[in-house]
Amino acid sequence: MSPTIRDVVIIGSGPAGLTAAIYTARANLAPLVIEGELSSTSDQPGGQLMLTTEVENFPGFEHGIMGPELMINMRAQAARFGAELLTTKATKVDLSERPFKIWVGDANAAAPTYLARTVIVSTGARSLMLNLPEETRLIGHGLSTCATCDGFFFRGHNIAVVGGGDSAVEEATFLTKFADTVTLVHRRDELRASKIMQDRAKNNPKIRFAWNSQVTKIHGDTSVTGIELVDTNTGQTRTLDVTGLFIAIGHRPNTDLFRGQLDLKDNGYLITEPGSTRTNIEGVFACGDVQDDTYRQAITAAGSGCMAAIDAERWLEAQHH
Ligand code: NAP
Repeated sequence: MSPTIRDVVIIGSGPAGLTAAIYTARANLAPLVIEGELSSTSDQPGGQLMLTTEVENFPGFEHGIMGPELMINMRAQAARFGAELLTTKATKVDLSERPFKIWVGDANAAAPTYLARTVIVSTGARSLMLNLPEETRLIGHGLSTCATCDGFFFRGHNIAVVGGGDSAVEEATFLTKFADTVTLVHRRDELRASKIMQDRAKNNPKIRFAWNSQVTKIHGDTSVTGIELVDTNTGQTRTLDVTGLFIAIGHRPNTDLFRGQLDLKDNGYLITEPGSTRTNIEGVFACGDVQDDTYRQAITAAGSGCMAAIDAERWLEAQHH
C-alpha cells in the first residue's frame, strides 16, 4: 500500500528545518520533520547548536541561552503547532518525479516510506574536525568551531586556531578583538588563505604562527588547558599553553543524499535561486547551512527556514493544494 502524500516533508532539524516546521505547521500543512539520528555527530537532531554551549547572539535572549536548550525549545514549538517529528535519518530520496519519494531505514526497500508534494532540505553542514578523541568531550568547553559565536568568551585568553585557509586566518584576526594572543597552527609553512588576509594576519601583533605543526592532543578534563603540537618536519612534540582552540579546517555540507538530483556548487553546497529557497527542482526548497557557505549562523539559518516554508506554501497554493 502506498503511503499517503504529505504536503511538506522537511529533512533536517537545525534552526532552518525547525523554523520551516513552525511556519508550515502554522499554515496547516502538517509537516513531517525527519530530524536525524541521535547516534550521529554530523546529522544529530537539532543540528550544530547541539554541540555548542552558550549562544549569546540569537536575538530574544538577553542573557544568552544554551545551544541544546534553544533547539529543544524550537522543537517543542514546532510540535505544539502540529509538526510531526521523526527521530531517524532519511536514507534515500527520489526527486525525479512528483510526488517526491523519501525513504527512511532500508534504502533498498522497493517502496518509499513517505511521499511528498514539497520537500524542504535543511540537512545543514558540519565542521571538519581533527578527529582527536578529546574533541567530543571538550567541544563547547574551550574547543569551538565558530569564532563569531564563541570569540566573546575568550577575552584576555591565549588561544589557538588550527588551519591555513581563509576561514582560519579570518577567525584568528577576528579573535584578536578578544584574546591576548592567537596562535595560528598550520600543518605547512605556507598559508592557503588569500594574500590580503595573510598580510592582515602577519601584521597583527597579537597573532603568532606555529608553522609545520599538527595538533595531536588537546589537554584538559573539563576545559581546554593546552594543546600538543608535533613538528611535521622533525617529529618533535611541544605543548602550547592555550585555554581555547578554534578548529577552522573547513566545512562539509550534508548533501550526499541529493547528489545527482539537486544542483550543487563545486564545493558541494546546494544551489538556490538568489533571493529565494528554490532549487533546480520545482517543489524542492533548501534552507540553512546546506545552501549557505557564507554566513552559517543560527539566525540566518532560521531566517531562510522561514523563507522555505513560505516558498513551499505558495508553491502548493499555486498547484491548488
Ligand atoms: P579551506 O580553504 O579548505 O582551508 C582548509 C585549511 O585547513 C587548509 O589550510 C588545510 O591545510 C587545513 N586543513 C585541512 N584539514 C586539516 C587537518 N586535518 N589538519 C590540519 N589542517 C587541516 O577551507 P576554509 O578556510 O574554510 O575556506 C573554504 C572556502 O571559503 C575557500 O574557498 C575560502 O576562500 C572561502 N572563504 C572565504 C572567506 C573570505 O573571503 N572572507 C572567508 C572564509 C572562507 P592545507 O593548506 O595544508 O591543505
